[in-house]
Amino acid sequence: MCATRGTKSAAQPTSSSGSQSDWRSHGFPAHWRKVVQSQEDALRDRVSDFVRSRVMPCEPVLDAGGPQAAATLRELQDQARQEGLWALPLPAELGGQGLPFDRYARLAEAEGTSDHGPAALGSAALLDATMLWKHGSDRIRDRYPARLAAGELRACYAMTEPDTPGTDPAGTATRAEERPDGSWRVSGRKWFVSGAAGADLVTVLARTDGEPGDRGGLSLLLVPTDSPGFRVVRELPVFGACGQWEIDFDGVGVDADHLVGGRGQALAVAAERLQLGRTLRCLRWLGQAQRAFDLMCVRANSRTGSRGPLAGHQLVQSHVFEALLALRTTRPLVHEAAAKIAAGLDAHVEVGLAKVAAARLLQQAADAAVQVHGAAGLGPDTPLPALLRTGRAARILDGPDELHITSVARRVLRTYERA
Ligand SMILES: Cc1cc2nc3c(=O)[nH]c(=O)nc-3n(C[C@H](O)[C@H](O)[C@H](O)COP(=O)(O)OP(=O)(O)OC[C@H]3O[C@@H](n4cnc5c(N)ncnc54)[C@H](O)[C@@H]3O)c2cc1C
Repeated sequence: MCATRGTKSAAQPTSSSGSQSDWRSHGFPAHWRKVVQSQEDALRDRVSDFVRSRVMPCEPVLDAGGPQAAATLRELQDQARQEGLWALPLPAELGGQGLPFDRYARLAEAEGTSDHGPAALGSAALLDATMLWKHGSDRIRDRYPARLAAGELRACYAMTEPDTPGTDPAGTATRAEERPDGSWRVSGRKWFVSGAAGADLVTVLARTDGEPGDRGGLSLLLVPTDSPGFRVVRELPVFGACGQWEIDFDGVGVDADHLVGGRGQALAVAAERLQLGRTLRCLRWLGQAQRAFDLMCVRANSRTGSRGPLAGHQLVQSHVFEALLALRTTRPLVHEAAAKIAAGLDAHVEVGLAKVAAARLLQQAADAAVQVHGAAGLGPDTPLPALLRTGRAARILDGPDELHITSVARRVLRTYERA
Protein backbone atom coordinates (compact mmCIF):
# COMPACT_ATOMS: atom_id res chain seq x y z
CA MET A 1 0.00 0.00 0.00
CA CYS A 2 2.76 2.50 0.93
CA ALA A 3 6.17 2.80 -0.71
CA THR A 4 9.24 2.00 1.39
CA ARG A 5 11.70 4.73 2.35
CA GLY A 6 14.74 5.62 0.26
CA THR A 7 17.19 3.46 2.19
CA LYS A 8 17.06 0.29 4.20
CA SER A 9 14.09 -0.37 6.41
CA ALA A 10 14.58 -1.23 10.08
CA ALA A 11 16.41 -4.48 10.68
CA GLN A 12 14.78 -7.12 12.86
CA PRO A 13 15.99 -7.03 16.45
CA THR A 14 18.73 -9.55 17.00
CA SER A 15 18.90 -11.90 19.92
CA SER A 16 22.24 -10.42 20.95
CA SER A 17 20.58 -7.10 21.68
CA GLY A 18 17.92 -8.80 23.81
CA SER A 19 14.75 -7.68 22.03
CA GLN A 20 12.39 -8.91 24.77
CA SER A 21 12.96 -9.63 28.42
CA ASP A 22 12.41 -13.16 29.63
CA TRP A 23 9.22 -14.03 31.49
CA ARG A 24 7.75 -16.97 33.36
CA SER A 25 4.21 -17.71 34.49
CA HIS A 26 4.76 -19.12 37.96
CA GLY A 27 2.27 -21.53 39.45
CA PHE A 28 1.47 -23.44 36.25
CA PRO A 29 2.84 -26.79 35.02
CA ALA A 30 5.96 -26.38 32.89
CA HIS A 31 4.39 -27.86 29.73
CA TRP A 32 1.44 -25.47 30.00
CA ARG A 33 3.79 -22.49 30.44
CA LYS A 34 5.59 -23.59 27.30
CA VAL A 35 2.36 -23.71 25.27
CA VAL A 36 1.26 -20.28 26.50
CA GLN A 37 4.70 -18.83 25.92
CA SER A 38 4.91 -20.14 22.38
CA GLN A 39 1.40 -18.80 21.61
CA GLU A 40 2.42 -15.40 22.96
CA ASP A 41 5.69 -15.44 21.07
CA ALA A 42 3.73 -16.24 17.89
CA LEU A 43 1.30 -13.37 18.55
CA ARG A 44 4.19 -10.99 19.23
CA ASP A 45 5.84 -12.06 15.98
CA ARG A 46 2.61 -11.42 14.05
CA VAL A 47 2.29 -7.95 15.61
CA SER A 48 5.95 -7.23 14.87
CA ASP A 49 5.57 -8.41 11.28
CA PHE A 50 2.44 -6.27 10.78
CA VAL A 51 4.14 -3.14 12.11
CA ARG A 52 7.32 -3.68 10.08
CA SER A 53 5.75 -4.73 6.80
CA ARG A 54 2.54 -2.64 6.77
CA VAL A 55 2.83 0.31 9.13
CA MET A 56 6.46 1.36 8.70
CA PRO A 57 6.27 1.80 4.92
CA CYS A 58 3.32 4.16 5.49
CA GLU A 59 5.10 6.33 8.08
CA PRO A 60 5.94 9.23 5.73
CA VAL A 61 2.26 9.50 4.71
CA LEU A 62 1.02 9.10 8.29
CA ASP A 63 3.58 11.62 9.63
CA ALA A 64 2.39 14.24 7.13
CA GLY A 65 -1.17 14.20 8.54
CA GLY A 66 -4.25 15.37 6.61
CA PRO A 67 -6.87 13.40 4.65
CA GLN A 68 -4.40 11.02 3.00
CA ALA A 69 -2.99 10.05 6.39
CA ALA A 70 -6.50 9.47 7.74
CA ALA A 71 -7.41 7.24 4.77
CA THR A 72 -4.16 5.29 5.08
CA LEU A 73 -4.72 4.75 8.79
CA ARG A 74 -8.25 3.46 8.14
CA GLU A 75 -6.88 0.99 5.58
CA LEU A 76 -4.28 -0.26 8.05
CA GLN A 77 -6.95 -0.61 10.73
CA ASP A 78 -9.11 -2.70 8.38
CA GLN A 79 -6.16 -4.97 7.69
CA ALA A 80 -5.48 -5.33 11.43
CA ARG A 81 -9.13 -6.32 11.99
CA GLN A 82 -9.02 -8.87 9.17
CA GLU A 83 -5.86 -10.41 10.59
CA GLY A 84 -7.23 -10.71 14.12
CA LEU A 85 -4.78 -8.18 15.54
CA TRP A 86 -7.27 -5.42 16.38
CA ALA A 87 -7.67 -4.00 19.89
CA LEU A 88 -5.66 -6.75 21.61
CA PRO A 89 -5.54 -5.15 25.10
CA LEU A 90 -9.06 -3.65 25.08
CA PRO A 91 -11.54 -5.38 27.41
CA ALA A 92 -13.65 -8.11 25.78
CA GLU A 93 -16.84 -6.44 27.11
CA LEU A 94 -15.98 -3.46 24.88
CA GLY A 95 -15.30 -5.62 21.84
CA GLY A 96 -11.54 -5.89 22.33
CA GLN A 97 -9.56 -9.11 22.63
CA GLY A 98 -9.12 -8.81 26.39
CA LEU A 99 -5.41 -9.60 26.55
CA PRO A 100 -4.42 -9.03 30.21
CA PHE A 101 -2.02 -6.14 30.68
CA ASP A 102 0.97 -8.27 31.75
CA ARG A 103 0.61 -10.31 28.55
CA TYR A 104 -0.02 -7.26 26.39
CA ALA A 105 3.15 -5.68 27.83
CA ARG A 106 5.15 -8.48 26.14
CA LEU A 107 4.07 -7.32 22.72
CA ALA A 108 3.52 -3.59 23.27
CA GLU A 109 7.20 -3.05 22.52
CA ALA A 110 6.80 -4.66 19.08
CA GLU A 111 3.58 -2.74 18.45
CA GLY A 112 5.18 0.56 19.45
CA THR A 113 8.24 0.17 17.24
CA SER A 114 6.41 2.62 15.01
CA ASP A 115 4.69 5.61 16.63
CA HIS A 116 1.67 4.73 14.45
CA GLY A 117 1.52 1.06 15.52
CA PRO A 118 -0.94 1.50 18.43
CA ALA A 119 -3.39 3.52 16.30
CA ALA A 120 -3.15 1.07 13.39
CA LEU A 121 -3.75 -1.92 15.69
CA GLY A 122 -6.51 -0.30 17.73
CA SER A 123 -4.79 -0.24 21.11
CA ALA A 124 -4.40 3.55 21.15
CA ALA A 125 -7.96 3.73 22.53
CA LEU A 126 -7.03 1.72 25.64
CA LEU A 127 -6.56 4.72 27.95
CA ASP A 128 -9.70 6.63 27.01
CA ALA A 129 -11.99 3.61 26.67
CA THR A 130 -10.99 2.14 30.03
CA MET A 131 -11.09 5.52 31.81
CA LEU A 132 -14.63 6.20 30.54
CA TRP A 133 -15.74 2.63 31.22
CA LYS A 134 -14.43 2.74 34.76
CA HIS A 135 -15.24 6.31 35.77
CA GLY A 136 -18.07 7.38 33.44
CA SER A 137 -21.80 7.67 34.22
CA ASP A 138 -24.19 5.04 32.82
CA ARG A 139 -24.85 7.31 29.85
CA ILE A 140 -21.14 7.73 29.11
CA ARG A 141 -20.59 3.97 29.45
CA ASP A 142 -23.49 3.25 27.08
CA ARG A 143 -22.45 5.74 24.46
CA TYR A 144 -18.71 5.88 24.07
CA PRO A 145 -16.23 3.23 25.28
CA ALA A 146 -17.31 0.44 22.90
CA ARG A 147 -17.32 2.84 19.95
CA LEU A 148 -13.84 4.06 20.93
CA ALA A 149 -12.64 0.46 21.11
CA ALA A 150 -14.15 -0.23 17.68
CA GLY A 151 -12.31 2.76 16.19
CA GLU A 152 -15.60 4.49 15.30
CA LEU A 153 -14.83 7.42 17.62
CA ARG A 154 -11.59 9.09 18.65
CA ALA A 155 -10.84 10.85 21.92
CA CYS A 156 -8.19 13.20 23.25
CA TYR A 157 -7.21 14.36 26.71
CA ALA A 158 -6.67 18.02 27.60
CA MET A 159 -4.84 19.02 30.79
CA THR A 160 -2.00 21.32 29.74
CA GLU A 161 -2.62 25.07 29.40
CA PRO A 162 -0.64 27.83 27.71
CA ASP A 163 -0.64 30.18 30.70
CA THR A 164 -0.22 27.84 33.67
CA PRO A 165 2.47 25.17 34.32
CA GLY A 166 1.33 21.69 33.25
CA THR A 167 3.50 20.26 36.01
CA ASP A 168 1.27 21.91 38.61
CA PRO A 169 -2.40 21.14 37.85
CA ALA A 170 -3.48 23.05 40.99
CA GLY A 171 -2.99 26.18 38.91
CA THR A 172 -5.51 25.07 36.25
CA ALA A 173 -7.27 28.16 34.90
CA THR A 174 -9.96 26.43 32.81
CA ARG A 175 -13.24 26.70 34.72
CA ALA A 176 -16.51 24.77 34.65
CA GLU A 177 -19.42 26.75 36.13
CA GLU A 178 -22.40 24.76 37.34
CA ARG A 179 -25.76 25.81 35.87
CA PRO A 180 -29.09 25.62 37.74
CA ASP A 181 -30.03 22.36 35.98
CA GLY A 182 -26.77 20.69 37.12
CA SER A 183 -25.08 20.93 33.73
CA TRP A 184 -21.77 22.78 33.22
CA ARG A 185 -20.39 25.66 31.20
CA VAL A 186 -16.68 25.22 30.41
CA SER A 187 -14.34 28.10 29.51
CA GLY A 188 -10.60 28.04 29.02
CA ARG A 189 -7.76 27.14 26.73
CA LYS A 190 -5.62 24.00 26.45
CA TRP A 191 -2.64 23.24 24.28
CA PHE A 192 -0.40 20.42 23.10
CA VAL A 193 -3.45 18.20 23.04
CA SER A 194 -2.51 15.15 20.97
CA GLY A 195 -4.96 14.30 18.21
CA ALA A 196 -7.46 17.06 19.11
CA ALA A 197 -8.24 18.05 15.53
CA GLY A 198 -9.59 14.62 14.55
CA ALA A 199 -11.17 13.80 17.90
CA ASP A 200 -14.89 13.32 18.53
CA LEU A 201 -14.48 13.65 22.30
CA VAL A 202 -12.19 15.57 24.60
CA THR A 203 -11.78 14.91 28.31
CA VAL A 204 -10.92 18.29 29.82
CA LEU A 205 -9.49 19.15 33.23
CA ALA A 206 -11.33 22.13 34.71
CA ARG A 207 -11.81 23.81 38.05
CA THR A 208 -15.34 23.24 39.34
CA ASP A 209 -14.72 24.48 42.89
CA GLY A 210 -12.19 26.50 44.85
CA GLU A 211 -9.53 28.90 43.63
CA PRO A 212 -6.40 28.57 41.48
CA GLY A 213 -3.72 26.99 43.65
CA ASP A 214 -6.12 24.64 45.51
CA ARG A 215 -5.28 20.95 45.05
CA GLY A 216 -8.98 20.06 45.35
CA GLY A 217 -11.88 21.37 43.29
CA LEU A 218 -10.68 19.96 39.95
CA SER A 219 -12.90 17.76 37.80
CA LEU A 220 -12.75 15.98 34.45
CA LEU A 221 -15.55 16.64 31.97
CA LEU A 222 -16.23 14.79 28.74
CA VAL A 223 -16.98 17.18 25.88
CA PRO A 224 -18.18 16.11 22.42
CA THR A 225 -16.12 18.22 20.02
CA ASP A 226 -19.18 19.21 18.00
CA SER A 227 -20.47 21.16 21.03
CA PRO A 228 -21.05 24.88 20.33
CA GLY A 229 -18.16 26.95 21.72
CA PHE A 230 -15.50 24.26 21.19
CA ARG A 231 -12.83 25.32 18.71
CA VAL A 232 -9.52 24.03 17.41
CA VAL A 233 -7.35 27.16 17.45
CA ARG A 234 -4.16 26.04 15.73
CA GLU A 235 -1.76 23.21 15.15
CA LEU A 236 1.47 23.18 17.19
CA PRO A 237 4.10 21.32 15.17
CA VAL A 238 6.74 19.66 17.38
CA PHE A 239 10.06 19.95 15.50
CA GLY A 240 7.92 20.26 12.39
CA ALA A 241 5.76 17.18 13.05
CA CYS A 242 1.99 17.46 13.22
CA GLY A 243 -0.37 15.96 15.78
CA GLN A 244 -0.57 18.48 18.65
CA TRP A 245 -3.23 21.17 18.87
CA GLU A 246 -4.34 24.21 20.81
CA ILE A 247 -8.06 24.18 21.62
CA ASP A 248 -10.49 26.67 23.11
CA PHE A 249 -13.63 26.25 25.22
CA ASP A 250 -15.83 29.33 25.05
CA GLY A 251 -18.73 28.67 27.42
CA VAL A 252 -19.17 25.09 26.15
CA GLY A 253 -22.27 23.42 27.63
CA VAL A 254 -21.63 19.98 29.14
CA ASP A 255 -24.38 17.67 30.44
CA ALA A 256 -24.43 16.93 34.18
CA ASP A 257 -23.79 13.23 33.55
CA HIS A 258 -20.65 13.96 31.50
CA LEU A 259 -18.42 14.31 34.58
CA VAL A 260 -15.71 11.63 34.51
CA GLY A 261 -15.18 10.44 38.09
CA GLY A 262 -16.84 12.44 40.82
CA ARG A 263 -16.87 16.18 41.23
CA GLY A 264 -13.44 17.21 42.52
CA GLN A 265 -11.97 13.75 41.73
CA ALA A 266 -9.93 14.75 38.67
CA LEU A 267 -6.48 14.25 40.14
CA ALA A 268 -7.24 10.73 41.38
CA VAL A 269 -8.60 9.67 37.97
CA ALA A 270 -5.78 11.46 36.14
CA ALA A 271 -3.14 9.78 38.32
CA GLU A 272 -4.54 6.35 37.51
CA ARG A 273 -4.67 7.19 33.81
CA LEU A 274 -1.14 8.64 33.83
CA GLN A 275 0.36 5.59 35.55
CA LEU A 276 -1.00 3.30 32.85
CA GLY A 277 -0.32 5.83 30.06
CA ARG A 278 3.30 6.39 31.06
CA THR A 279 3.94 2.65 31.23
CA LEU A 280 2.44 2.13 27.79
CA ARG A 281 4.59 4.90 26.39
CA CYS A 282 7.72 3.40 28.00
CA LEU A 283 7.01 0.03 26.38
CA ARG A 284 6.62 1.72 23.01
CA TRP A 285 9.76 3.82 23.48
CA LEU A 286 11.70 0.62 24.17
CA GLY A 287 10.59 -0.65 20.76
CA GLN A 288 11.62 2.59 19.10
CA ALA A 289 15.00 2.66 20.85
CA GLN A 290 15.61 -0.91 19.70
CA ARG A 291 14.76 0.20 16.19
CA ALA A 292 17.28 3.07 16.32
CA PHE A 293 19.87 0.69 17.74
CA ASP A 294 19.31 -1.83 14.95
CA LEU A 295 19.61 0.88 12.30
CA MET A 296 22.84 2.14 13.88
CA CYS A 297 24.43 -1.32 13.87
CA VAL A 298 23.38 -2.06 10.29
CA ARG A 299 24.82 1.29 9.18
CA ALA A 300 28.06 0.81 11.14
CA ASN A 301 28.67 -2.45 9.33
CA SER A 302 27.58 -1.39 5.86
CA ARG A 303 29.19 2.07 5.53
CA THR A 304 32.80 1.59 4.49
CA GLY A 305 35.66 4.05 3.99
CA SER A 306 39.35 3.61 3.17
CA ARG A 307 39.93 2.33 6.74
CA GLY A 308 37.14 -0.21 6.52
CA PRO A 309 33.59 -0.16 7.90
CA LEU A 310 32.50 2.42 10.47
CA ALA A 311 32.05 -0.49 12.86
CA GLY A 312 35.85 -0.72 13.09
CA HIS A 313 36.17 2.71 14.76
CA GLN A 314 36.34 2.56 18.53
CA LEU A 315 34.29 5.73 18.94
CA VAL A 316 31.50 4.13 16.88
CA GLN A 317 31.79 1.02 19.03
CA SER A 318 31.37 3.28 22.04
CA HIS A 319 28.00 4.52 20.70
CA VAL A 320 26.94 0.91 20.24
CA PHE A 321 28.03 -0.08 23.74
CA GLU A 322 26.39 2.87 25.49
CA ALA A 323 23.10 2.43 23.64
CA LEU A 324 23.07 -1.32 24.30
CA LEU A 325 23.80 -0.72 27.98
CA ALA A 326 20.92 1.74 28.17
CA LEU A 327 18.58 -0.70 26.40
CA ARG A 328 19.51 -3.62 28.63
CA THR A 329 19.23 -1.62 31.86
CA THR A 330 16.00 0.16 30.94
CA ARG A 331 14.02 -2.84 29.70
CA PRO A 332 13.80 -4.56 33.12
CA LEU A 333 12.76 -1.26 34.76
CA VAL A 334 9.90 -0.84 32.29
CA HIS A 335 8.71 -4.43 32.67
CA GLU A 336 8.90 -4.12 36.45
CA ALA A 337 6.57 -1.11 36.25
CA ALA A 338 4.25 -2.98 33.87
CA ALA A 339 4.15 -6.02 36.17
CA LYS A 340 3.22 -3.86 39.16
CA ILE A 341 0.49 -2.09 37.22
CA ALA A 342 -0.84 -5.44 36.00
CA ALA A 343 -0.92 -6.71 39.58
CA GLY A 344 -2.79 -3.60 40.72
CA LEU A 345 0.05 -2.56 43.05
CA ASP A 346 1.36 0.93 43.85
CA ALA A 347 3.85 1.57 41.06
CA HIS A 348 4.71 5.25 41.55
CA VAL A 349 8.42 4.64 42.05
CA GLU A 350 8.68 2.00 39.32
CA VAL A 351 6.76 4.09 36.77
CA GLY A 352 8.82 7.19 37.62
CA LEU A 353 12.09 5.30 37.18
CA ALA A 354 10.87 3.67 33.97
CA LYS A 355 9.58 6.94 32.49
CA VAL A 356 12.86 8.81 33.00
CA ALA A 357 15.01 5.86 31.89
CA ALA A 358 12.95 5.06 28.77
CA ALA A 359 12.79 8.69 27.63
CA ARG A 360 16.56 9.09 28.08
CA LEU A 361 17.14 5.77 26.33
CA LEU A 362 15.16 6.74 23.26
CA GLN A 363 16.82 10.12 23.01
CA GLN A 364 20.28 8.59 23.47
CA ALA A 365 19.81 5.66 21.06
CA ALA A 366 18.24 7.84 18.36
CA ASP A 367 20.94 10.50 18.75
CA ALA A 368 23.74 7.90 18.49
CA ALA A 369 22.10 6.36 15.43
CA VAL A 370 21.82 9.79 13.77
CA GLN A 371 25.50 10.43 14.52
CA VAL A 372 26.63 7.14 12.98
CA HIS A 373 24.49 7.82 9.88
CA GLY A 374 26.04 11.27 9.35
CA ALA A 375 23.92 13.58 7.21
CA ALA A 376 21.73 10.67 6.11
CA GLY A 377 20.52 10.44 9.71
CA LEU A 378 19.05 13.93 9.49
CA GLY A 379 17.51 13.49 6.03
CA PRO A 380 14.19 12.03 4.90
CA ASP A 381 15.28 8.47 4.08
CA THR A 382 15.32 6.95 7.56
CA PRO A 383 12.93 7.16 10.52
CA LEU A 384 15.72 8.56 12.69
CA PRO A 385 14.56 12.21 12.73
CA ALA A 386 11.14 11.05 13.95
CA LEU A 387 12.70 8.77 16.57
CA LEU A 388 14.96 11.58 17.80
CA ARG A 389 12.00 13.95 17.95
CA THR A 390 9.97 11.45 19.95
CA GLY A 391 12.92 10.86 22.27
CA ARG A 392 13.31 14.57 22.94
CA ALA A 393 9.61 15.15 23.50
CA ALA A 394 9.51 12.06 25.75
CA ARG A 395 11.55 13.92 28.35
CA ILE A 396 8.78 16.53 28.67
CA LEU A 397 5.40 14.97 27.89
CA ASP A 398 3.50 13.09 30.61
CA GLY A 399 5.57 15.09 33.10
CA PRO A 400 9.15 16.26 32.54
CA ASP A 401 12.14 14.34 33.89
CA GLU A 402 12.54 16.72 36.83
CA LEU A 403 9.03 16.01 38.10
CA HIS A 404 9.61 12.24 38.16
CA ILE A 405 13.07 12.57 39.64
CA THR A 406 11.89 14.67 42.57
CA SER A 407 8.72 12.62 43.05
CA VAL A 408 10.59 9.27 43.13
CA ALA A 409 13.34 10.65 45.38
CA ARG A 410 10.82 12.11 47.84
CA ARG A 411 8.89 8.84 48.07
CA VAL A 412 12.04 6.83 48.63
CA LEU A 413 13.40 9.29 51.20
CA ARG A 414 10.11 9.15 53.12
CA THR A 415 10.59 5.42 53.67
CA TYR A 416 13.89 6.19 55.43
CA GLU A 417 12.25 8.71 57.77
CA ARG A 418 10.50 5.78 59.45
CA ALA A 419 13.66 3.65 59.61
C1 LIG B 1 4.43 15.74 21.93
C2 LIG B 1 3.63 16.20 23.12
C3 LIG B 1 2.36 15.67 23.34
C4 LIG B 1 1.60 16.11 24.42
N1 LIG B 1 0.32 15.62 24.58
C5 LIG B 1 -0.47 16.14 25.55
C6 LIG B 1 -1.86 15.78 25.64
O1 LIG B 1 -2.36 14.97 24.84
N2 LIG B 1 -2.62 16.35 26.61
C7 LIG B 1 -2.10 17.26 27.50
O2 LIG B 1 -2.83 17.74 28.35
N3 LIG B 1 -0.79 17.64 27.42
C8 LIG B 1 0.03 17.12 26.47
N4 LIG B 1 1.34 17.52 26.37
C9 LIG B 1 1.85 18.50 27.31
C10 LIG B 1 2.78 17.88 28.35
O3 LIG B 1 2.14 16.92 29.14
C11 LIG B 1 3.36 19.04 29.17
O4 LIG B 1 4.16 19.81 28.28
C12 LIG B 1 4.18 18.60 30.36
O5 LIG B 1 3.37 17.98 31.35
C13 LIG B 1 4.91 19.79 31.00
O6 LIG B 1 4.05 20.85 31.23
P1 LIG B 1 4.45 22.32 30.68
O7 LIG B 1 4.81 22.21 29.25
O8 LIG B 1 3.37 23.24 31.05
O9 LIG B 1 5.80 22.66 31.43
P2 LIG B 1 6.00 23.51 32.78
O10 LIG B 1 5.12 22.96 33.85
O11 LIG B 1 5.90 24.94 32.44
O12 LIG B 1 7.50 23.13 33.12
C14 LIG B 1 8.58 23.62 32.31
C15 LIG B 1 9.88 23.07 32.81
O13 LIG B 1 10.10 23.50 34.15
C16 LIG B 1 10.86 22.54 34.84
N5 LIG B 1 10.08 22.03 35.98
C17 LIG B 1 8.74 21.94 36.09
N6 LIG B 1 8.40 21.40 37.29
C18 LIG B 1 9.55 21.14 37.94
C19 LIG B 1 9.88 20.58 39.21
N7 LIG B 1 8.91 20.14 40.05
N8 LIG B 1 11.18 20.48 39.55
C20 LIG B 1 12.15 20.93 38.71
N9 LIG B 1 11.90 21.45 37.50
C21 LIG B 1 10.62 21.55 37.12
C22 LIG B 1 11.11 21.40 33.85
O14 LIG B 1 12.36 21.58 33.23
C23 LIG B 1 9.99 21.57 32.86
O15 LIG B 1 10.27 20.99 31.58
C24 LIG B 1 2.13 17.08 25.32
C25 LIG B 1 3.42 17.58 25.10
C26 LIG B 1 4.16 17.17 24.02
C27 LIG B 1 5.53 17.76 23.80
